[in-house]
Amino acid sequence: MAFELHVDADRWRRGLRAVVDATPGIVPVIKGNGYGLGRDLLATESKALGVDTIAVGTYAEVPDALAAFDGDVMVLTPWRPFSTDVVLDDRVIHTLGRVEDVAQLAALKGTIRVVIEGETSMARHGLDRHELAAAVAGLGELQVEGFAIHLPLGSVSGRGGNLGEAESWAAALAASQVETTTLYVSHLNPDELANLRERRPLLDIRPRIGTSLWLGDLGALSVRATVIDSHQVARGERVGYRQRAMPRDGHLLIIAGGTSHGIGLEAPKASAGAVQRGMSLARGGLEAAGFALSPFTIDGKQRWFAEPPHMQASMIFLPASARPPEVGDSVDAAVRFTTATFDAVILD
Ligand SMILES: *Cc1c(COP(=O)(O)O)cnc(C)c1O
Repeated sequence: MAFELHVDADRWRRGLRAVVDATPGIVPVIKGNGYGLGRDLLATESKALGVDTIAVGTYAEVPDALAAFDGDVMVLTPWRPFSTDVVLDDRVIHTLGRVEDVAQLAALKGTIRVVIEGETSMARHGLDRHELAAAVAGLGELQVEGFAIHLPLGSVSGRGGNLGEAESWAAALAASQVETTTLYVSHLNPDELANLRERRPLLDIRPRIGTSLWLGDLGALSVRATVIDSHQVARGERVGYRQRAMPRDGHLLIIAGGTSHGIGLEAPKASAGAVQRGMSLARGGLEAAGFALSPFTIDGKQRWFAEPPHMQASMIFLPASARPPEVGDSVDAAVRFTTATFDAVILD
């Protein structure tokens, strides 16, 4: 009992299977905190899903991925001559995004598998399309597994989606000397993928997907935080590190989950919904008094921090009008999964 993620395993796995079946060539992305679920769990699930390749964020994440998964492991961060933790292995696929890096990686011994990345409007990494010829000239013995593009979130208003940009990169690839028909894409929605496949039937299009795979069915996931302590408080009573005065009579709840679990002072905006709308009525009251909305829902409402979260616990003010939970009960919490760390991930 602490700050835990409970997974309805059957439901979650049904969702994974549905996404994989609907997305031929999918490359599951497994990076960072493993989308809150943990990288090892996701690598093991990928094995069960039968995919041939997964993608990790960094070289530091490669050894665990190689151990938990038996197929290929693509590294999304481009190789650099100054990278100190590069893993050279037959199952690792490196990303190249600068002309000078191509020749330097090609100078290393052994079979080295790479994807060449193009710089999209995202502008994070990759070669300009005018640099493709120079990159190809330096490839030497490198084994090119494909070309990669990373697009902005298609939902960004005013962009009208990512299909146009993906299509123009497909054309640039076809016109280039890069010898591959495999295009790894990030952030195309299912319609855009279908469209691109239709327009470019000779390309093997491989979508790299994290969020909409692992977190595609949030109803299968629930975050539960244990109430570790509860104290009655009176209006004006001072509590916490900051000795701030309580706004009204009520309860002060000490709940598992703090900064070490990724709980920030601002509750995630993704939790905006009926609860949030209801809360806006109360704003101006506690918010104007300098209180911040916590991610914890108690007696049907998202509640206010009594003070900023501590490392392992949060202090929450519950007004006397609400029914307080018992010590030992758990309450729901809304988290941003990509920054959350749970004491335990439990597959129910
Ligand atoms: C993180 C990442 C992805 C996966 O992104 P999601 O939004 O989680 O699907 C795909 N491609 C690249 C290059 C990434 O860095």
